[in-house]
Amino acid sequence: MKRGPAVEISLAAIKHNYELVRVLTNNRRVIATVKADAYGHGAVEIASTLEKLGVYCLGVAYAPEAIELRRAGINKIPILVYFDNLDAADIVKYDLTPIVYGVGKADVLSDVALKQNRQIDIHVDIDTGMGRVGFLYDRDIEGIKAISKLKGVRVTGFMSHFSEADLNDRSFAEVQLERALHLRAELSGVFQSAIWHMANSAAVMSFPSSHLDAVRPGLILYGSNAFEFDCTRPETAAFRPVMAVKARLLHIRRVPPGRSVSYGRTFVTMRESLIGVVGTGYADGYPRALSNKAHVLINGQFAPIIGRICMDVAMVDLTDCRGVEENAEVVLVGRQGDKEITASELAAWAGTISYEILISLGRVNGRVYLDEP
Ligand SMILES: *Cc1c(COP(=O)(O)O)cnc(C)c1O
Repeated sequence: MKRGPAVEISLAAIKHNYELVRVLTNNRRVIATVKADAYGHGAVEIASTLEKLGVYCLGVAYAPEAIELRRAGINKIPILVYFDNLDAADIVKYDLTPIVYGVGKADVLSDVALKQNRQIDIHVDIDTGMGRVGFLYDRDIEGIKAISKLKGVRVTGFMSHFSEADLNDRSFAEVQLERALHLRAELSGVFQSAIWHMANSAAVMSFPSSHLDAVRPGLILYGSNAFEFDCTRPETAAFRPVMAVKARLLHIRRVPPGRSVSYGRTFVTMRESLIGVVGTGYADGYPRALSNKAHVLINGQFAPIIGRICMDVAMVDLTDCRGVEENAEVVLVGRQGDKEITASELAAWAGTISYEILISLGRVNGRVYLDEP
């Protein structure tokens, strides 16, 4: 059993979000990104749910993530490995599809495959402006073409990644798409059967011309806002948050005015106050940066986090809340009554992005899977 708050994962919401992606993309093939333990939601459970829903392919960052899925029985669909320098033996053994971003790597894979009388499927990464990994769209074309001559690998796909598709101003995303389309035309005679995919969550939502042959969303499958810097976009509302995080109220105390709360005495009571102690801290992935910034939901009401968040507990001001008793449920992320706290709000309060909030709360705490919303 794990300490800390309980993380509830709605498989019904995953299904809803996956189906919404299919609708928004006119039934494009979906490469579901389940790296980092499915953004803290549990990769095995999320991947098997998506496999049953007919997802085309899964995407992870590193080999151990892919191997974990294969060992858990997810064997019917390809798994793309975005970054890892995969061991060819593992690729063959677990039937993985590496993303290749260098000729040397493709060479080695081809040699190993040929020695075993095999051919390995690979996808090739093109850097159209992400500036991370990938063949440079304008400089490395000969290198890409050289891969077509390797007998031990077969290029079944090309990918590229957007660096700022989550902005309202889509001009650089458009430049990136142009570069990819230009290269696709140039390579079409050489790699006839390869699919092209580019769209992350933000591009799935807002940039239909980038949907190409397949899309590669992560965040929106988990129901979070892909436009964190532009929260008003109406499309966002249709995705349903998959994760809720719930802690317990350990204790309530009445204290007079002028008393300081927690380390560093960053909060001092201005009035006679009811102060609650919540059973979660930064050890449970509730960021210390939320000190004096976040709200939680108790008894259907918002209550502010006051003072520094500690390793194991955090304090809330309950003075303005009605009917709160010890052991009450405290919602850190999710709904209670008609009110809601989203991972994006928490992220904004903590000065980060919802990806980091979901991963940090989801990975360390005990998760329960629900079939209802
Ligand atoms: C993480 C990642 C994605 C998914 O991004 P979201 O913003 O979560 O949709 C897609 N492709 C690659 C290569 C990634 O690293």
